[in-house]
Amino acid sequence: MPDATFATRLKEAMGEKGLKQVDLLRYAEDHGQKLGKSQLSQYLSGKTTPRRYMLAFLASALGVTVEWLSGDAEIELAQPATATAQSNEPREVPMALRKFDKSSKLNNVSYDVRGPALDEAMRMEEDGIHILKLNIGNPAPFGFRTPDEVVQDMASQLIDTEGYSDSKGLFSARKAIMQYDQLKGIPNVQMSDIYTGNGVSDLINLVMQAMIETGDEILVPSPDYPLWTACVTLAGGKAVHYLCDEQAEWLPDLDDMRSKITSNTKAIVIINPNNPTGALYPREILEEIVEIARQHQLIILSDEIYDRLVMDDLEHVSIASLAPDLFCITFNGLSKSHMIAGWRIGWISISGNKRLGKGLIEGINMMSNMRLCSNVPAQSIVQTALGGYQSVKTYVVPTGRVCKQRDYVYERLCAMDGVSVVKPKAAFYIFPKLDPKKFNIQDDEQFQLDLLQDKRVLIVPGKGFNWETPGYFRIVYLPRRAVLGEALDQMEEFLEYYRQ
Ligand code: PLP
Repeated sequence: MPDATFATRLKEAMGEKGLKQVDLLRYAEDHGQKLGKSQLSQYLSGKTTPRRYMLAFLASALGVTVEWLSGDAEIELAQPATATAQSNEPREVPMALRKFDKSSKLNNVSYDVRGPALDEAMRMEEDGIHILKLNIGNPAPFGFRTPDEVVQDMASQLIDTEGYSDSKGLFSARKAIMQYDQLKGIPNVQMSDIYTGNGVSDLINLVMQAMIETGDEILVPSPDYPLWTACVTLAGGKAVHYLCDEQAEWLPDLDDMRSKITSNTKAIVIINPNNPTGALYPREILEEIVEIARQHQLIILSDEIYDRLVMDDLEHVSIASLAPDLFCITFNGLSKSHMIAGWRIGWISISGNKRLGKGLIEGINMMSNMRLCSNVPAQSIVQTALGGYQSVKTYVVPTGRVCKQRDYVYERLCAMDGVSVVKPKAAFYIFPKLDPKKFNIQDDEQFQLDLLQDKRVLIVPGKGFNWETPGYFRIVYLPRRAVLGEALDQMEEFLEYYRQ
């Protein structure tokens, strides 16, 4: 007569371990033990009881004794003919069955600039397909090299930069940053107000962790560089997106910004020059943003990583220079303006009325100390990179590579039927729009994937920059003109037939 006690105990032990039938079947397979699905179902329903060797296997898999698992059942004690996998020795508890998920802190965090289409592009490359990549703002692969002097200085200081530095950074680096801030008119920055980091990325995260209480609202532009939204969210805050207006050359819509301020708003983020639009904010707009921050007592966080990549004889104005009475944090680094992205060096400068943020500065100090210091060899070349001859200037004059490539891409896009685009003034990105009537783009990511699969061209859709209206995408115009030409030819052909 089949016994019910064994079935009950089997279910109980499985429940205790949080195991489903499929987990136990997989565990058996991994351990060379034959155990079929229907066999296990029969055990669980009490229709049959296992032989002794199977009982021993299940007991060790579930971390219980044979005696307990068998209950009162009269288990057949005979050993099977093949005794190898059926030994009664204790086995390890099934570690393979424990699942590890990502932290729920990441549930609402997205960073799609390197999303699923990149995986598909990599898969295509593995199949020998050449991809025209217009997706990532990484200067080195496109021939924008670190100046020789900087490389030599790094090499000669390498043996002196083996140890940790002061957590904020080397004296020489911070002195050079302080002087750079002085040139930009950023007021009241002392050596102790400068912190180096492994890129601006590192410092966005560090400052958000130090600053944000759960539920704090931070005004972030839309479109944005998505790390800002991601880090605000990860720190427990709410990124509230203010619109940048395509009709106004992608400048922030100040009415929209004002309308999104609540009693929970703590700071305004601006990205100037802007990724992904290439906009450069004029002084008047910056002054108005400062006024908004003043009225509502907000911190100003300004990401100025592209500040030297400005074209058309325009001048970059640091918003902190207009806000001596407010608490400002300016983010900058060598990745873009100096085309040294891989060595990982960025910094923040705290300026203005620092008394307002005394507590926050304590938090930033704690976070800075906790990570010991940023990459010291990279800090050692900040002085060389920031001072003296600036090779980046040769790129942004009308005959320079960045400027010529911008003009070329802009003109090509303007000539495409159904494409409209604002001419960027800075950085190395352009953010075109596809006419909704003609293309009816509803799903940005599908467009990205279709373009990749049909034409081998990889771009990033607007959604990746927290821009909700479908039909926009970003092109990085760092590749050489020949590559840009080929990619734009492909895109033009694609847009002749593509509709959603
Ligand atoms: N901020 C903006 C606006 C960016 O576009 C990027 C990179 O693309 C970063 C920050 C990150 O820079 P870093 O290399 O210094 O981490």
